[in-house]
Amino acid sequence: MIKGEKIYEGKAKILYKTEDPDILWQSFKDDATAFDGIKKGTIIGKGVANNTISSNLFKLLKEHGIESHFMEKVSNTEMLVKNVEIVMVEVVVRNISTGSLCRRYGVAEGIVFEKPIVELYFKNDELHDPLMNDDHVVALGLADQEELATMKNQALRINEILKEFFSTIGIKLVDFKLEFGRFHGQIILADEISPDTCRFWEMGTNRKLDKDRFRQDLGDVEKTYHEMMQRIVRKS
Ligand code: ADP
Ligand code: MG
Repeated sequence: MIKGEKIYEGKAKILYKTEDPDILWQSFKDDATAFDGIKKGTIIGKGVANNTISSNLFKLLKEHGIESHFMEKVSNTEMLVKNVEIVMVEVVVRNISTGSLCRRYGVAEGIVFEKPIVELYFKNDELHDPLMNDDHVVALGLADQEELATMKNQALRINEILKEFFSTIGIKLVDFKLEFGRFHGQIILADEISPDTCRFWEMGTNRKLDKDRFRQDLGDVEKTYHEMMQRIVRKS
């Protein structure tokens, strides 16, 4: 496979063409942003950690019957993925209250929800990714009813699989964000699953093991990404 022309550079990753129009080369960067891109920085080793963690988690999901864009890891920071048409809706699943949910609804951090909350956000940086409901998604033509149902069902399945996996390595899966895409008429999981897109709290201590260490200047940011990678790799 040949790494071709760069087609998109985002905040965390770069996508390149390959000789196969169905396949992209996805490269993970060390760059980090938070709060709508207002806070910027570099987390040395994040590209390696996020590529490794995402690869392992996509493989785990595949073993449980969840299809994703992941094809193969081609280097420490790169993977081959299926070239999908991204659905411009971010699907968030929350098991424990924190972050924007606490600010929006005025509730304390750390409330364990009996049933996970699924939230939908419009993937639109200029509009600051506004929260939306099912009707907005369909009315604005971002996805049809059936696609939306598939994404929400898969998100909840993924939550169960990942919650179980992380519990075996002493970590609570607090919440996470997913992106899906269309590939030859089928909805599949895309983008990444990493400490950039999930919140992880260590069982017993509630130590934060994700991008909140960068967002909130909690220190040990590089060390934490490395630790998460090691914990996941050891178990995979
Ligand atoms: P952003 O700053 O827009 O979040 P990222 O740095 O996360 O960008 O780069 C990845 C971009 O590529 C995202 O816009 C994401 O939606 C998109 N993407 C992820 N997986 C795929 C895929 N398999 N095919 C096409 N686009 C993808
Ligand atoms: Mg992104």
